[in-house]
Amino acid sequence: MTETRKLRVRVDPQVCVGNAMCEAIAANTFRINDNRQSEAVNPDGDSIDNILEAAENCPVSAIVVEDAETGERLFP
Ligand code: SF4
Repeated sequence: MTETRKLRVRVDPQVCVGNAMCEAIAANTFRINDNRQSEAVNPDGDSIDNILEAAENCPVSAIVVEDAETGERLFP
């Protein structure tokens, strides 16, 4: 997987429980908002590996990662 790939990252607000694990792993990509939920504020904020690691470590699988150009689902 190349680091030049553009990602589309989203957090499902119906699912996120706000434990901030994603922000701890990929702090430039995810931010906990005033509703104690994560938002994907910058899909290029961290390395692809870090963003995927954050998605994998979300306890409720609220994070969806796709290739922005091809739409390929990278996680889950
Ligand atoms: S790790 Fe998952 S549940 Fe926790 S804040 Fe991030 S998106 Fe929400």
